Amino acid sequence: MKLKSMTLEEMGALFKELRQPAFRAKQVYTWLHKGARSYEEMTNLPKDLRAVLEEKYPIYAPVAVRRQESKLDGTRKYLWQLEDGNCVETVLMRYHYGNSVCISSEVGCRMGCAFCASTLGGLVRKLQPHEMLDQVLFTQLDSGLPISHIVLMGIGEPLDNMENVLRFLELVNSKEGMNISLRHISLSTCGLVPKIDELAQKKLQLTLSVSLHAPNDEIRNTIMPVNRAYPVEELLAACRRYYQATNRRISFEYAMINGVNDGPEHAKELLRRLKGLPAHFNLIPLNHVEESPLKPSTKAAVARFQKILEDGGVTATVRRTLGGDIDASCGQLRRKHTKENQ
Ligand code: SAH
Repeated sequence: MKLKSMTLEEMGALFKELRQPAFRAKQVYTWLHKGARSYEEMTNLPKDLRAVLEEKYPIYAPVAVRRQESKLDGTRKYLWQLEDGNCVETVLMRYHYGNSVCISSEVGCRMGCAFCASTLGGLVRKLQPHEMLDQVLFTQLDSGLPISHIVLMGIGEPLDNMENVLRFLELVNSKEGMNISLRHISLSTCGLVPKIDELAQKKLQLTLSVSLHAPNDEIRNTIMPVNRAYPVEELLAACRRYYQATNRRISFEYAMINGVNDGPEHAKELLRRLKGLPAHFNLIPLNHVEESPLKPSTKAAVARFQKILEDGGVTATVRRTLGGDIDASCGQLRRKHTKENQ
């Protein structure tokens, strides 16, 4: 395992093996979590220790191969190159409450959603914990903007990489590290029911976002293959269990697709199915992906849908489109980059 994917306790155990005092582990942990690019920078460590670490645990810092900045709203998008040459995207969004990064959890994705650019080339590999941490850390360093919020809504399915994601959460939340509160973190899933149950048992204070996108199996089956394994009723039952275990309101994402899932009857069906489950809806006008025939809903259809949910007692917000001028929706920049380099 890479040093940067280790918890402070694990690093402590390792340093003990290296016959180093415990405070050295804390020094190295702190340096790594501040974004040190080499052991040379770690001037409070003895030279011989630095040499040993360099030999056994070389440090890699991701390289920004592309940077885009929206002229409309200051949203920034990074394409980071990982140690093995693969690339992932990170988006930095500026809100009144702070700066938020949307990070990737995998290189590619195997979930196959019909509207999503991230899944077009399939799954290449899962990200290691430090590769998720690095996205937060180096986006902060490169931009000079302090990051207070994280959404796991970039490329990949976080619950398909659960172990590494949980470890990442522990790292980014650690007080010797970036110390970002779990209450400021959202994790988005396409609906892997057994994993939602597993996560519920951890009783974390993060926000679970569920990509619902349809009120019933008939529609959801056509746009999200995962629904064949975990149909809507089972998914909503898992959401109820999650709420019971954590007392955290579920946030549902709903990409509004013209003529597919945006009718008043769909909003009404959602209300019927969600009865008794505290929920918040994020309505996202579909981002058009070149390879897909699906189109965004009209503004009027989105507004009508929102009103029906609200009138039925379910809060619904329309997600502001940020970075409309910079391919900011997930997977689009990596896809372009891969195509150009083929
Ligand atoms: N795999 C996770 C997280 C990554 S996608 C998940 O499925 O939730 C983050 C969100 O963006 C999901 O709700 C996803 O369905 C949505 N999304 C993907 N492509 C989109 C597009 N073209 N337009 C709007 N939303 C999209």
